Amino acid sequence: MTVPSLSADPMPDAAPAGVLEKAPLERYVPPAKPSLVGLSRAQLAEALDGVGVPGAQRKMRVQQIWHWLYVRGATHFDEMTSVSKELRALLDRHFTLDRPEVVAEQVSVDGTRKWLLRVPGEHAGELPHEVECVYIPEADRGTLCLSSQVGCTLTCTFCHTGTQRLVRNLTAGEIVGQIMVARDRLGDWHRKSGLPDLRTTESKSGLPDLRTSGSKSGASDTTPGSLPAESHRLVSNIVMMGMGEPLYNFEAVRDALLVAADGEGIAISKRRITLSTSGVVPNIARAGAEIGCMLAVSLHAVRDDLRNELVPLNRKYPIAELLAACRDYPGLSNARRITFEYVMLKDVNDSLADAKALVKLLKGIPAKINLIPFNPWPGTRYECSDWDRIEKFSEIVFNAGYASPVRTPRGRDILAACGQLKSATEKLSARERLALRAMAMTD
Ligand code: SAH
Ligand code: SF4
Repeated sequence: MTVPSLSADPMPDAAPAGVLEKAPLERYVPPAKPSLVGLSRAQLAEALDGVGVPGAQRKMRVQQIWHWLYVRGATHFDEMTSVSKELRALLDRHFTLDRPEVVAEQVSVDGTRKWLLRVPGEHAGELPHEVECVYIPEADRGTLCLSSQVGCTLTCTFCHTGTQRLVRNLTAGEIVGQIMVARDRLGDWHRKSGLPDLRTTESKSGLPDLRTSGSKSGASDTTPGSLPAESHRLVSNIVMMGMGEPLYNFEAVRDALLVAADGEGIAISKRRITLSTSGVVPNIARAGAEIGCMLAVSLHAVRDDLRNELVPLNRKYPIAELLAACRDYPGLSNARRITFEYVMLKDVNDSLADAKALVKLLKGIPAKINLIPFNPWPGTRYECSDWDRIEKFSEIVFNAGYASPVRTPRGRDILAACGQLKSATEKLSARERLALRAMAMTD
């Protein structure tokens, strides 16, 4: 396996000023033998039908395959011992259980893990794309941050992903595949042996070990090879907060999240799945009706003139329309709130008047406010607000009755924090990478 060179020339960066969205590249060329990962039960039944599995057997076979895939984490049909040998051989001739290829794994000093995954390009013969997926262990949960697109068609001015030129929607299989990869690498399946030992210096798959020296894995208190208890799964929560705008890839994201929430498989409750959007208003109602997960909204500004600049999509769907869609989001209550994300940009959106306007704006919406310290990247025009200002801002929000956790940046040493996800497809120059690393390590 070759690791892409990180020293190649950078591609032209950043959309021209004033661009609302970039054109998506939607075409996808599937591999010769398709993977069953990410298919819905109905699609799985169809696939079995296509290779001649008799109708009377199909439902039972779907149930078996679903269990082996999503409870046991099977990677080969051979493992499916409750399925007849003939059927296993038939399946193997036509399908795989492949996940996206893991190109590299990095472990931060704080236990955050980042995987660089390779997915096919759009056109036959085109270079593959790379996306990232991040695991954040905390005392009471383990959160997996998934990407929905290669890059993003949107051009938020403070976001590193928004500067990436190449864009393609991920398939449902590639989104579910990120969960499979994380559980594979963390040993987070219901099976008794054959789990990768994440503590060894060289991984079994021959992947380069990019771990930060002296790192301690947050997951290392779980003995690889042991059976994680149902309530102690390492991946307990999912956030669609990686690369891309999930509501611009609605069907694939919906189908993937419904697979993740299926109680007889990966079984992550919809209350533990949060989809973050920059404000694609028409699809907010669809997310409520067709997915039923928790919603996070990247607000970042309280006035349209400023939000137009920070989140150019605001010119299409301004704040009032966005908040109306939030008010209508189904199932809201004090126990089920919308999270409003607010990135703290020094002297841009962080005045105390902004804080007061923010709580006024959200009045009547069951809301949490998540203040995110800005994560800098090379070439950005923004700086993170001073800590003192973040605290004062947070106090105003707190005194207005909102829990206002300031999200601690995680995985900064491996560039896994919000807005720093940018695949190696868009190569950074060595100088840029050094600058980025230096910034990440200094605060
Ligand atoms: N596209 C979706 C989800 C991915 S971004 C969205 O925009 O909501 C996840 C979160 O990280 C968003 O709230 C986004 O605004 C925020 N973010 C992006 N760049 C950031 C940066 N450089 N520093 C801090 N937060 C950032
Ligand atoms: Fe895309 Fe979200 Fe970044 Fe905006 S903040 S460019 S919507 S990934």
